[in-house]
Amino acid sequence: ETEASAEQEASSATAGWWARARRVLPGGVSSPVRSHQAVGGTPVVIERGEGPYVVDVDGRRWLDLVQSYGAVLLGHAHPAVTAALAEAAAKGTTFGATTPGEVQLAEAICARVPGVEQVRLVSSGTEATMSALRLARAVTGRDRVVKFDGCYHGHADALLAGGGSGVATLGLPGSAGVPRAAVAETLVVPYNQVPDLDEQVACVIVEPVAANMGLVPPEPGFLAGLREACDRVGALLVFDEVISGFRLGPGGATASAGVRPDLWCFGKVIGGGLPIGAFAGSRELMGSVAPSGPVYQAGTLSGNPLATAAGLAVLRAVQPADYEALSRRVAALAGELTEVFAAAGVAAQVPVVGPLLSVFFTEQPVRDGAGARAASARRYRRFFHEMARRGVLLPPSPFETWFPGMAHDDAVLGQVLEAVQAAAAVVA
Ligand code: PLP
Repeated sequence: ETEASAEQEASSATAGWWARARRVLPGGVSSPVRSHQAVGGTPVVIERGEGPYVVDVDGRRWLDLVQSYGAVLLGHAHPAVTAALAEAAAKGTTFGATTPGEVQLAEAICARVPGVEQVRLVSSGTEATMSALRLARAVTGRDRVVKFDGCYHGHADALLAGGGSGVATLGLPGSAGVPRAAVAETLVVPYNQVPDLDEQVACVIVEPVAANMGLVPPEPGFLAGLREACDRVGALLVFDEVISGFRLGPGGATASAGVRPDLWCFGKVIGGGLPIGAFAGSRELMGSVAPSGPVYQAGTLSGNPLATAAGLAVLRAVQPADYEALSRRVAALAGELTEVFAAAGVAAQVPVVGPLLSVFFTEQPVRDGAGARAASARRYRRFFHEMARRGVLLPPSPFETWFPGMAHDDAVLGQVLEAVQAAAAVVA
């Protein structure tokens, strides 16, 4: 098959940068999901972004459905964000002291997510989940952690087991270099089934909308069942809303599911495209975090003024109605894609939750990691390249979610639909 990326390889700027990248960056990337391990071909090397598009170093414009894996909500280089960044940068980039921006961002998070009273800002989602875990273990005095197969919570030792995202893409059970002891207290169970818990469990950590094995919605009763199961044994429920937070709506999955966890993890959107993460909870629970309490956690760049300025600019720019309109556009697109695949005779599922969607090439609705792995990776690979040939950049793995955002208006999503119509006919 001729692949769009084969054409890329011939083009000089991309090929040149990629060769240089491979020399000095392991695999040519700074994070494994960016490589084309699952789909083959040469990844794009991006020069700049504008709204729903990115422009590569060869000047080609792509309709971008990756949007930095959900870190970008308003579209690339949104004027509200770049203005906030310029203003913040002119005042200095980091101080190692409290700034108004981090107070305001924490206030904005507390105001939007029902139940959140205090927030500790960190610099990545990985730090957020790692620290939430430590806090849950400390306050319960227990060690065991329950996570779900196919959910990804960053790359901390205890949480990589049964990981989604790049861990699933590369077919790894976890990672080399993780001591057995580090995962001895991690129990991996299937998504969408409420596990039996006992009094040894410190916490259950879950993506309330699973978005690292492709998109897998929680079935009715699953999250409420987790809440009950945790309450029964005195375990904490941790929602990893690094993706769902401020993307499904201002209150994330917490608001849409109507289930409150004890602790939250955030990242991505709250940094407006800059490195950030946060863990959060009630004032009482967060009171155990140093310096108020004995759970140590720290960071030189935590609450960074640029990241908080960009994040605040995003949160202030979007209204509930914007989320609702985007969700309606994406639901319509998902419905159309389902029809297109059916008409082309391609067995496909197009799960959609709010503005999140993905495509699984399988007859069966996907409800867990095993289902996601059973979908055709080969067909996704072909589909990825057929979409790339038509100028649409999808995540280079079936285990990632698509992230249309506020800049993806009807016209842009119309272009996606047209590309899928043409691609579906070819992959049939
Ligand atoms: N949790 C979830 C649900 C994620 O999707 C991710 C990253 O994709 C993380 C945690 C880790 O965040 P980061 O990549 O910022 O460390």
